[in-house]
Amino acid sequence: MSKLELVFVPTPAVSHLISVCKFAEKLVNRDERLCATFLIIRPPPPFDASVDAYIKQKSSDSQGSRIRYITLAKAKPPPSDEIGKSIDRYISLYLANCRPLVKEAIISNKRPDSKIIGLVFDMLCSSMIDVANELGFPSYLFLVQSAGFLGFTFYMSIWRDQVGREFNQSDADVKIPIFSHPVPSKVLPSFAFIKEGYDTFCNHAARYKETKGILINTVAEFESHAVNSLASDPELPPVYTVGLLLDAENQKPSTQAAGSRPDLENQKGKGNSTSEDEEIIKWLDQQPTASVLFLCFGTLGVFQPPQLVEMAIALERSGVRFVWSMRLPANAETTKLKEILPEGFLERTKNSGVVCGWAPQTDILAHKATGAFVSHCGWNSIVESIWYGVPIVTWPLYAEQQINAFQLVRDLEVAVELTLDYRMQQSGQPEIVKAEVMEKAIRCIMDSENPQRKRAKDMGEICRKALMEGGSSFISLERFVETILDS
Ligand code: UDP
Repeated sequence: MSKLELVFVPTPAVSHLISVCKFAEKLVNRDERLCATFLIIRPPPPFDASVDAYIKQKSSDSQGSRIRYITLAKAKPPPSDEIGKSIDRYISLYLANCRPLVKEAIISNKRPDSKIIGLVFDMLCSSMIDVANELGFPSYLFLVQSAGFLGFTFYMSIWRDQVGREFNQSDADVKIPIFSHPVPSKVLPSFAFIKEGYDTFCNHAARYKETKGILINTVAEFESHAVNSLASDPELPPVYTVGLLLDAENQKPSTQAAGSRPDLENQKGKGNSTSEDEEIIKWLDQQPTASVLFLCFGTLGVFQPPQLVEMAIALERSGVRFVWSMRLPANAETTKLKEILPEGFLERTKNSGVVCGWAPQTDILAHKATGAFVSHCGWNSIVESIWYGVPIVTWPLYAEQQINAFQLVRDLEVAVELTLDYRMQQSGQPEIVKAEVMEKAIRCIMDSENPQRKRAKDMGEICRKALMEGGSSFISLERFVETILDS
């Protein structure tokens, strides 16, 4: 029997690969005629190489020959001064430069026994629509972010047509149809305030409309307002909500990870060893149900020592048990925790807390001792937290995390606000969130009567059901399979 093949071209970053790889696995499991080929673009300098390790692991456990991972040669990066103007534009330009490589790879790696029925790209790869058009097959967007974020990118051109410019942080709250509450301009993504970033996303959003379908790692019942808003937009292709997709085995990027207590000297070198991860889980095994606060800030989140001191004070004052995944900026003067944290903190909290570098996040969220998650609100982290019914405390740092935090607190009510508009700064003096603010949010989320706790738990169950036979995501995937088989 000849196979029907989808070619995937994701943005080369581990947090973009997690859900799209999972999606491909679900897809080929759904229909035995389907197979998938991933074309992995090499990240442009100065981005790290953790993608290679992730793909190596995926290749080793992919189902026979039905999912292939092919890494492409390096393409020419855009001039490095583009990075300073807009990181999203820099990456988008680089990905556009990769089009000839992608086209060549599709042609030269053609399976003898299969017919290509579509190309699936993610957020910053909309230029790949040109390749699909040239080779004569349809393209689909797989969005690793939320429906809310997608709706915001569509709204950007409307705002510019009406107001004639990008956003300012001083603009009044904005009514954006994808959200049910007015949005404070301070929570909009950084790219929305910069011309180059704004243009880049307006262009991507316009191209998303050229696709034959949009797949999103969300659940219709979870982001119901946003999903209905997309579904009722006549300018958009069909939207398929196929989440929640998460990778239960934790990935440890080789260059981001850290060692564990008592210092973070290993942080530039390697991931935690399995035994370090096991130690964390063993420690959790001894804690009461829903008593532990987990703090983790994505693959890139770092804090300067003065902020870490405030965090330590808040943890100690609130008396909460904790697992704290901590990473320091590359320019930190010391990695010795004893020199950074308040005197005696490590000693006093040695029974009630664990400080680690890279954390086995999904295992921690899955553990019954985990009661809440202080998160930077990256979409994968949100998906993982909701899947396991863990309520979130919002501390956004970069990318679209501020608008995610806003949506979680105001529209979806599964999170407590610690901050909605904090931005991690690479240079200059970052804002310091005081211990009092953090302590208040911790006490609020750890209160067993807290309504967000209940809602997060209920939403977790709803989201799990969505993937079961007859559930909304199950049906959505079925609709997508029917569409591609008919194309
Ligand atoms: N992650 C982890 N341990 C860490 C930090 C991150 O396992 O110490 C994983 C986390 O489970 C998630 C991903 O890395 O799957 C981060 O993705 P997300 O979209 O939340 O944030 P990003 O890194 O893109 O900002």
